Amino acid sequence: MKVFGKGPKIFPIFLPNLGCKGTCVYCNQRVMTGEELLAPQELARNDFSKVDEIAFYGGTFTGLDLNLIEDYLKLAPEKPKRISTRPDAITEEVVALLKKYNVRTVELGIESLFEDVLHASRRYYDEGLVRNVIESLKKDFDIVAHLMTGLPKDSSEKSLISTLKLLEMGVKTFRIHPTLVFAGTELEKMYRSGQYEPQPLEEAVITVARILVTIESHGGKVIRLGYHVPKSQNGYIVAGPYHPSFGDLVRARLVKEIVNSLRIKVAYVPGRFLPWFTSYGNNELDLTLIPTEGEEILLDNLAFVEAESLYFQRFVKQTIFKSAHVANLDFSEVSTCKS
Ligand code: SF4
Repeated sequence: MKVFGKGPKIFPIFLPNLGCKGTCVYCNQRVMTGEELLAPQELARNDFSKVDEIAFYGGTFTGLDLNLIEDYLKLAPEKPKRISTRPDAITEEVVALLKKYNVRTVELGIESLFEDVLHASRRYYDEGLVRNVIESLKKDFDIVAHLMTGLPKDSSEKSLISTLKLLEMGVKTFRIHPTLVFAGTELEKMYRSGQYEPQPLEEAVITVARILVTIESHGGKVIRLGYHVPKSQNGYIVAGPYHPSFGDLVRARLVKEIVNSLRIKVAYVPGRFLPWFTSYGNNELDLTLIPTEGEEILLDNLAFVEAESLYFQRFVKQTIFKSAHVANLDFSEVSTCKS
């Protein structure tokens, strides 16, 4: 099993679809991840001494039988743990176990705060439940919210409003996944029968770029843009906005939008960020690019995050406000959008 990532060394354990009460229309984790389920006894043979954290991905960790939850969490008890689950599978008993066994981070598959979108994906909870769960978890755990775009009955405006509401609930860290159609899912049937149309790649990139700037301009961070689909599983993607470098596409698009909208003339860019300014058509931008040795991007005299905030205030917020109003969406609790 591979330990990856530049930051803390995370030992990932995949529990494909384990603990799920039903199957969401877009989900088939065996083909999405290619991972096999391993029991706690098999996992205990691993050497965890060199890892910083053990993460349980996939499935609904807190939906498992309490004894099984405990068996998994007893692996290397001294190591911090990260689990992924969904908001309607959190109970007081489970929270007590998570605290007892050194769980530091709870990744919550929220996906949307719109009931019509959630129900169309066979996820039967609502915004009120999500709010309560976040409130009950946030003092003891770091929360990572997962959001999806392009679900059945979804729209870019709904995705942006869900993002803003989660920021207001105190969530700071996100993973954003555009919906892909995988083989063997209900969504594949819906797609083949014409009931579901995937987001085109261009629309997914723009939507996710706007979600990204919304999060970063409110002090949050995004730790994943787009699904990581192992090469071996690419053949199971039937349709949808898949790109192997989706995150770079989004970053490059955001740079383009900011530079054009704010009429930026000079960018001072540390080497590791240069591809955002030179790839995916951005070498055509009317911009003087000055590579630097520093750590921070400067756009004219603005730090990158200041430019993001300005772009959010002047353009994204207005777009959300107008579209949400036209589509009669609920933005009453989104104070950022009140004008
Ligand atoms: S999306 Fe999550 S909750 Fe839904 S079936 Fe897949 S693993 Fe289970």
